Amino acid sequence: MLVRSLEIQGFKTFPDKTVLQFHDGITAVVGPNGSGKSNISDAVRWVLGEQNVRTLRCTKMEDVIFNGTPQRKPLGYAEVTLNIDNRSRRIPFDKDDVSVTRRYYRSGESEYLLNKVSVRLRDINELFMDTGLGRDGYSIIGQGKIDAIVSAKSEDRREIFEEAAGISRYRYRKEDSERKLDAAEENLVRLRDILAELESRVGPLKEQSGKAEKFLNYSAEKKSLEIALWLRQLDQSAAVLHQYDDKITLARTQQESAQRELAALDKMTEKNFQGITSCASEIDKIRQRSASCEESAARKDGEADVLLNDAHHAEETVRRLKNEQTSAVDSGERIRTEIQGKEQQAAE
Ligand code: ATP
Repeated sequence: MLVRSLEIQGFKTFPDKTVLQFHDGITAVVGPNGSGKSNISDAVRWVLGEQNVRTLRCTKMEDVIFNGTPQRKPLGYAEVTLNIDNRSRRIPFDKDDVSVTRRYYRSGESEYLLNKVSVRLRDINELFMDTGLGRDGYSIIGQGKIDAIVSAKSEDRREIFEEAAGISRYRYRKEDSERKLDAAEENLVRLRDILAELESRVGPLKEQSGKAEKFLNYSAEKKSLEIALWLRQLDQSAAVLHQYDDKITLARTQQESAQRELAALDKMTEKNFQGITSCASEIDKIRQRSASCEESAARKDGEADVLLNDAHHAEETVRRLKNEQTSAVDSGERIRTEIQGKEQQAAE
């Protein structure tokens, strides 16, 4: 297994994409203090999944992103890729080239890629376990680390030797299994508690379930009774409906005959109206005739009055003439008497 190259972009002092090639033999990075040499080993630690910001010499994870200079604006994300020659299959991944990428954004989002495929941090950790390259590997010996190893407690030293001996994978798995076992035990305790609590509720629940069963039976019975009632009401309503249908049919027949009668009456009314119209014109004519008759009667009355008057005058004339006749007779008598007296006188 050989580290072939390291690609850094946006990580600490590397704003531009920088590729470091590692050839056979020893590669040395030389530079003045503070020029960024240790940032390269930080990049290797980081890409292999380091989570401890103090180990990366930062106060928060965002500090690994290029922070800007007076000449250059800060960047939004950091990305490091470690390319490894795996022809020896030292890494349990069936590819000759293994490339591990870690990307981190200022928003806090991060991602890991294995040969450009998104993976979990756990996958990266497991991949490098026992290779000495991993997060807790002994391959990266920082400043003062040798001192720490030599003066460390035997317990801490043991971890380094275990990693070198290749048993840390099994230790990790053991720890993982123990963690899972603990969690399962905790769950078991919780389940036992729940079971105990549930058991105490069994009695009242049984009672409640009896009641619920009764309720269900009653409600089923109620439902079937309600259905029967509805069916009965439906039948009754159907019968009433039938009666109303008959009545409607009868009423319709009656209405039709009434309409026929009405039509006949209309016709008759029309005829009568025509008769009335002709009677009215007849009445008008009669009225005119009566008016002219009345006129001629009035005229005749006038003529009769004139004739009566004439008759009256004639009667008066007759009466006068009779009186004159009487007086003429009287005067004739008297004259005759005088004649007789004269004749006598004359005779004498
Ligand atoms: P020494 O030999 O003293 O340890 P060095 O060459 O290893 O120094 P580093 O410690 O790797 O240098 O780099 C430190 C430099 O990195 C500092 O100048 C610091 O300002 C710069 N630096 C660290 N983090 C960032 C960042 N996020 N953005 C820009 N520059 C950074």
